[in-house]
Amino acid sequence: MPKAEETVLEIDLNALAHNFKTIKSQLKPGVKFMSVIKAFAYGHDADTIALKLESLGTDYFAVAYTEEGVRLRKAGITSPILILNPQPVNYPQIIEHCLEPNLYSARTLQLFIELAEKQKQHNYPVHIKFNTGMNRLGFTEANYHHITESLRRTQSVKVVSAFTHLAASENWKEREFTLSQIYKFKELAGKLIQDIGYEPLLHLCNTSAIFNYPSAAFSMVRSGLGLYGFANDENLNKKLKPVATFKTIISQIQYLEKGNTVGYGRAFKAEKTGKTATLPVGHADGIKRIYGHKKAGVFINEQYAPIVGTVCMDSIMVDITGIDCNEGDEVIIFGGPQQASDLAVKGGTVTYELITGISQRVKRLIID
Ligand SMILES: *Cc1c(COP(=O)(O)O)cnc(C)c1O
Repeated sequence: MPKAEETVLEIDLNALAHNFKTIKSQLKPGVKFMSVIKAFAYGHDADTIALKLESLGTDYFAVAYTEEGVRLRKAGITSPILILNPQPVNYPQIIEHCLEPNLYSARTLQLFIELAEKQKQHNYPVHIKFNTGMNRLGFTEANYHHITESLRRTQSVKVVSAFTHLAASENWKEREFTLSQIYKFKELAGKLIQDIGYEPLLHLCNTSAIFNYPSAAFSMVRSGLGLYGFANDENLNKKLKPVATFKTIISQIQYLEKGNTVGYGRAFKAEKTGKTATLPVGHADGIKRIYGHKKAGVFINEQYAPIVGTVCMDSIMVDITGIDCNEGDEVIIFGGPQQASDLAVKGGTVTYELITGISQRVKRLIID
């Protein structure tokens, strides 16, 4: 791998292929694979990730916002794309770009059908979401009747899948609750199949559920985090390979005497002679201010260098006293000795938030 010469997020497509195959090998033959690539493919570069996954044979894509789906179409993605979080104002764009909406309430279902009828669509693919306990989006048993009432009167849409989302698939202590969600989903899906007279794809597993509840795979799974190399579990993480490595370099070295201070607010004070390295990456790049004051650090020539003082917008300073290094040397923020999952823990957050928070201004360097 070439040495970094500026702040970059390296994207290893071979690791992505490894993760895709590893997750797929958990599935019974015939179970379809939906790759979740919302939020810029969890910060990794959606177009590149999507094109690679399409070449690897993913069956479906999911994104959150309509705009994300439009972008994928413009990048040449031809696979079906589920829009998880569309708003009615987006429906014309959804149809224009052959995207498939998640319809999760009487209001959204009705509005989509109205547009589909106006446009004389026939069997336009839509997805019905059930709320089985997450209480975020979806039809419940109590308002299930809206689905059949709306669908009975129209040929303009076709339910290509029904799905739900688990609230705690990574947490064994919530096993009972998860099993109750799976049970509710089975019931609602069964009812729907009877009422519409055909069997759409059924799916509820996210990455953790694929590993923890393999018998609940139904006919499709939705994997996001796992594709990028994490599975909310240390042992499972070992089976996967992190796709992204966040690197930067040393812009400048500062030599400090006892009593000198570093950065805004003079937040770090040298207690003895030492040195710091200034790195061109800051909170505007996704290194949150919580990581300052030695809460976290980076690796330089395989040695740990804690972040000192406050995190600036475009810079951090790290203590390199006793570390043999030079200006221009490569620095690892995450990847290798310190994975994104480790750094997330130090920041009191989850891998999802850390990796989706790497700013778009950080150059993505694709390695294939
Ligand atoms: C984000 C998301 C997923 C992917 O979950 P991972 O834990 O990243 O695999 C699946 N389904 C829905 C509805 C989501 O919002």
